[in-house]
Formats: sequence, C-alpha cells, structure tokens
Amino acid sequence: MSTSSPSHPETLVAHADRGIDAVSDVAAPIHQTAPFRALSDDEFAAMSTTPRHDRNYTRDGNPTSSRVEAVLAALEGAEAALLTASGMGAISTVVLGLVGSGDHVIAQRTHYVGTAQLLATVLPRFGITVTLVDQARPQAFADAITPATKLIFVETPANPLLTITDLAAVGQLARTHGIITLCDSTIATPVNQLPLGLGIDLVVHSATKFLGGHHDLMAGVVLGTREMIERVWHMAVTLGPVADPFAAWLLLRGLRTLPLRVARQNQTALEVARFLERHSVVLRVHYPGLESHAQHALARRQMPGGFGGLMSFELRTGFDGAQAFFGAMGLVSRAVSFGGFESLATQPGAMWSGSVGASKSTEAGITAGLIRLSIGLEHPSDLIADLDHALHAAAQGASS
Ligand code: PLP
Repeated sequence: MSTSSPSHPETLVAHADRGIDAVSDVAAPIHQTAPFRALSDDEFAAMSTTPRHDRNYTRDGNPTSSRVEAVLAALEGAEAALLTASGMGAISTVVLGLVGSGDHVIAQRTHYVGTAQLLATVLPRFGITVTLVDQARPQAFADAITPATKLIFVETPANPLLTITDLAAVGQLARTHGIITLCDSTIATPVNQLPLGLGIDLVVHSATKFLGGHHDLMAGVVLGTREMIERVWHMAVTLGPVADPFAAWLLLRGLRTLPLRVARQNQTALEVARFLERHSVVLRVHYPGLESHAQHALARRQMPGGFGGLMSFELRTGFDGAQAFFGAMGLVSRAVSFGGFESLATQPGAMWSGSVGASKSTEAGITAGLIRLSIGLEHPSDLIADLDHALHAAAQGASS
C-alpha cells in the first residue's frame, strides 16, 4: 500500500487488498475455480512446491481469498490471515493444529456452544485434557496452568453472557510460561478490539457474523504471525475447511462497510441496552457498555472502538414470558446467528441444554428466560418500539 501507511479501519477496508492481484480491477473478481492451469514447467514446479500458493488448487489458496486475507490481516494488525469455511472450521483447525496427545488446554466456562462441544467431546478423544475456568478472574487461568499446558483459549466478549476476559493479563501470564494464546474475537470485531496488540498470539473470528454482516455467507478466519499461520495452513490443507471463492468474495464486499456498520451497531446497542435496563420486565442486561456490567472498566480499556452489537438479557417472567416475547416481536426475527444488517434474537438456553445438557447450561448461568439480542442497522427508535411491544406481551403472557 502507500508509503503513508493508513491505519484507520475505514481506509484499510477500502485499500488493504490493493496490489495483491497483479491486475487493475477495483472490485475483486471471483476466481470460482478449483484448479489453476500451469503455463510452463517452471510454473508447475512453483505451484506444486510453494506453500499457500493461491493459483494451484483452491484448497491451498485462491486469489479472491488472498484479497480478503490481506484486508483482515491489516484490520487485525496481524502479519498473516487464513480464511476458512466457517468460524468452527477456523477454531477446530487452529486448535488441532496446535495441540496433540498429552497436551493440556485452558479455556473458559462460557464459550460459543460449538467451541464448548469441541472442548468437551472432541479434544478428550485425542488424549488432550481441558480445564475450564471462570474467565472473569485472571488468577483462575494462572491456577489452572500445569507443565503440560500448551494453549490458553479465550473468547471475549463471550457468547452468550458477554463476560469479558482480561486479554493483557492472560497474554502476559501465558508468555511467562511459554504457552500459546488464542482469542475468539468474533463478538468484538477488529473495529472494537485488537487482541494481538494486547499480547495474544492468535485471533479467530466467525466471519459469518459482523465481518460478513449480511447474513448471507459462512466463513471464518485465523490471524497471527506468518510462521503460526503457515503451521495452521498445513492443518487446514489436511482437514479441508476451505472457504469457497464466492463466500470469500461476499465477505470482501461486506468488509468494505464493516467500520461503518459496527460504529452504528455500537451506538444502537448502547441505546437499546439502556432502554432494556430501565424496563420493569427485564431482570438483568448483559452488555459490556453498561456501567452496571461487572467488568465495564475492563471493557472500556480493551475495547476502545466500542462495545459491540450483541447483548443478552433476562426476563423476570422466565421461560413462559420469553415465549410470549418471541411471539410478539415484529421487526426482530427469531433466529440464531448475529452481526448482520437485520436484528435477530434467540434463546441460548435451548441451544445450550440441547448440546451440553440442562445442568451444565444452568451452571454456566444460561437460564430459560435468557434472550440474546443481535442489533442490526434498523433505526434505534423502531427497534425500541418493537422490543417494548414484545416485553409488554412477555409481562401479559407470564401472568395469563
Ligand atoms: N465463535 C463465536 C463467538 C460464535 O458465536 C460462533 C457462532 O455463532 C462461532 C464462533 C462459530 O462460527 P460459525 O457459525 O461461522 O462456524
């Protein structure tokens, strides 16, 4: 890029992929092909022997993905990025690429449910032990370290209770013990939080969420040093969670507006969270931007861009009230996922008890009346009116 090295996300999303392709397209082409043709013996030799060559076979790399990876690496302040088919593709590939039999992993008591399942059911099958700790207490990570600890895996803010992990504290602790750190930063986005700058080694995102932003693609990304990402790439080529070129193209298109979308979602989310907090049917709101969030000061320090577009809240009216709430919503759709242009809400308790069991779900604080709300790009007043109507129905539903 230019010699003045722009660092603002708005500029990076527009220009960080310039010059990646030796062509003059302003908008990226979609290289929707599995193999690429070699035009000479020398070229065939280079294609077959260069790691991450993006014009050989799309499982190894693809020029459309390379452009997305350039933008994501610039946004995250990383040397390199690896695009994958989904967030879980990124997470399982990076974890399996870093740890093996006999190793110990420290992770959090609350993670995205797919990650929780990987930690609880997949890793033990490969002889990897896992300790889950209370992520709100940095000392809990220190207490869990053993001589076999290879990886500390954090997620902040964590899905679905928006608990914050102190990234600088965990990063420093891990460095003194030679342990690799991995942060799932999906909920924050690189607009709001930059874990690598706080001493974390690797970052993953589900790009299906805010990065894509339009509820129309599945993708994931792993970011870190060139050397680490090449290691993860070797595992990705073997496991095969490769991003499709069309999904990569959609993601690149979505990324062009990421900073604008996230800035708006940060603002609207804070307004909605304040409204919910004042509402008589709402028992508690989990949103790091609220002064009432137990880790608000920490969130302020490590999320300089804003507090994100995801929150959860508990209804005083429990499960019955939640059912009435969902039945009465108009604008806000009842759907999983988050981070797109349209606001969505769901009940994490149902997902959690379905996959990790009701007792583990309650133990993690995920109650039957908990609602997770993803803020889209609608006008805040329209959203608040819709939520007000649905909360009224929740109060009536529970009393009828
Ligand atoms: N990480 C977090 C925090 C998530 O919320 C999700 C999905 O909801 C994932 C990872 C998995 O991403 P994907 O659905 O793209 O596989």
